[in-house]
Amino acid sequence: MDRIAICHLSGCWIWTGKVDSRGYARVKRNGRRFQVHRFAYEIIIGEIDENLQCDHACRIRHCVNPFHLEPVTARTNVQRGFAAKINFEIAEKIREEYASDKNMTQQKLADKYGLFRTSISFIIRGVNWARSEEEIASNVTNNRRKLFSTAQVKEIINLLDKGRTQSSIASEFGCTQYTIWKIKAGKY
Ligand SMILES: [Zn+2]
Repeated sequence: MDRIAICHLSGCWIWTGKVDSRGYARVKRNGRRFQVHRFAYEIIIGEIDENLQCDHACRIRHCVNPFHLEPVTARTNVQRGFAAKINFEIAEKIREEYASDKNMTQQKLADKYGLFRTSISFIIRGVNWARSEEEIASNVTNNRRKLFSTAQVKEIINLLDKGRTQSSIASEFGCTQYTIWKIKAGKY
């Protein structure tokens, strides 16, 4: 805790120790590197699915307050990173301009919109901003790790014993199939 300064305005737990090249708080233990915010989240709130990244709601990368973090997919994280410059409407416009003008290049669009050419490529291919913000928001809700009570976990195990499929239980409980799998495997 001696390497954390609390900001009383934002509630951020600002890491005053070392940060990595991307600005995230990190520590080295037994030769291994750990991201401090991820560690804090796992200790205080719960395990994060390996395939999810931690998005900082406060946009302060070296904040380690777990309540400012949200585990999201890498794709959502990238989409949010672009959010400062772009939105679904602009992305649609870019796709339209590219499709309707044979002489239009990705580089021209990048220059026009002040984005990287790779970002334009992602937009055109529908990797990013393929969907409206409402759709993305509901996607985030679905990806958010649900914390189940002991009673709920028992209920899920019960349903599994009765032969219910993991996918049907996941949709009933509004979580990912991976979570159900973890419960089944006794790793929850
Ligand atoms: Zn914060």
